[in-house]
Amino acid sequence: MTHGTERVLITGITGQDGGYLAEQLSNDGAEIHGLVRDGDEAASGLLQRLPQAQLHTGDLTDTEGMRDLLRVLKPSEVYNLAGISSVAQSWEQPTLTAEVTGVAVAVLLQTAWQLTESGNPVRFVQASSAEMFGNPQRSPQNESTPIAPVSPYGAAKAYAHHLVGVYRARGLHACSLILYNHESPRRPSSFVTRKITQAAARIAGGDTEQLALGNLDARRDWGWAPDYVDAMVRAARHAVPGDYVIATGVEHTVRDFVAAAFVAAGIDDWNQYVRVDPRFFRPVDAVEQIGDPSKAGQLLGWAPTVPFDEIVARMVRAENQPAE
Ligand code: NAP
Repeated sequence: MTHGTERVLITGITGQDGGYLAEQLSNDGAEIHGLVRDGDEAASGLLQRLPQAQLHTGDLTDTEGMRDLLRVLKPSEVYNLAGISSVAQSWEQPTLTAEVTGVAVAVLLQTAWQLTESGNPVRFVQASSAEMFGNPQRSPQNESTPIAPVSPYGAAKAYAHHLVGVYRARGLHACSLILYNHESPRRPSSFVTRKITQAAARIAGGDTEQLALGNLDARRDWGWAPDYVDAMVRAARHAVPGDYVIATGVEHTVRDFVAAAFVAAGIDDWNQYVRVDPRFFRPVDAVEQIGDPSKAGQLLGWAPTVPFDEIVARMVRAENQPAE
């Protein structure tokens, strides 16, 4: 298969990962199509960065609309990044999460399979999540770790992940990328990492606010978002479809993140600016989600390229620059 002339469809193109993925694929020469919801204000920013992207208004839960879009476009690659991407939001809207993050994937897979059978092969990449592992018994986790979600988000992702396996067994080139947390200056401020980098930059600029956080000892495996979308492309273009854990394999606490952010902002003694607020503890906190990306390393030649301190420093530096 030659690459560079693919027509790709990205759902969630206005999200953190969707933008990076569209930029990478466009640089590779692909024809970029993206699904955007009506009134999505991020679409204009995306078009400024990537005027050649062709955006299609729709909603992942519109079964007929999604079927028609795929049938008309006949994309050679579909990257399904859209969905409710926050665990906290999934507790507030479990039904919507099930529909958007879970069930909607069935239509994409079924249509991709039908197109493939009729002579238009489609390669499918699903953005799965380490949250499917819930509170794992062992660290690090790999592709064989039992799926045992502890949130509506994790459960919806687990359904989609299993369905990818079902269609792969039928013959579709379908991959599930089990993504661990990945960050960038484009992370929304509703996520703790961005909340921290925003506060560190503001406090360094003279703001007297205090940063209220939940469990500072919560541990996570944090990577650099553009690395993670690169893994998606590598999986789509590998001869054999599969599931891959995409992670750094290195754990850090929220406390480490706070310290790195304040140091990057020029503040060594961060304790006085941070207070722990139990209201920010999650209903069920999944602990020790650390991924083992060996399979992606061996089969896809993938490895994380940006170390933890540098990820945090890039995010802090970007706070004082105009949004990309
Ligand atoms: P994000 O920034 O929250 O982007 C999600 C995208 O989905 C947005 O463009 C959103 O559009 C779109 N969307 C939501 N509901 C939709 C619907 N009903 N129809 C069509 N589009 C809809 O997410 P991200 O951080 O880029 O993550 C990308 C994917 O990776 C997600 O599926 C996420 O669950 C998964 N993932 C991410 C991480 C991470 O650390 N970032 C970790 C594991 C897995 P609107 O702007 O209109 O809402």
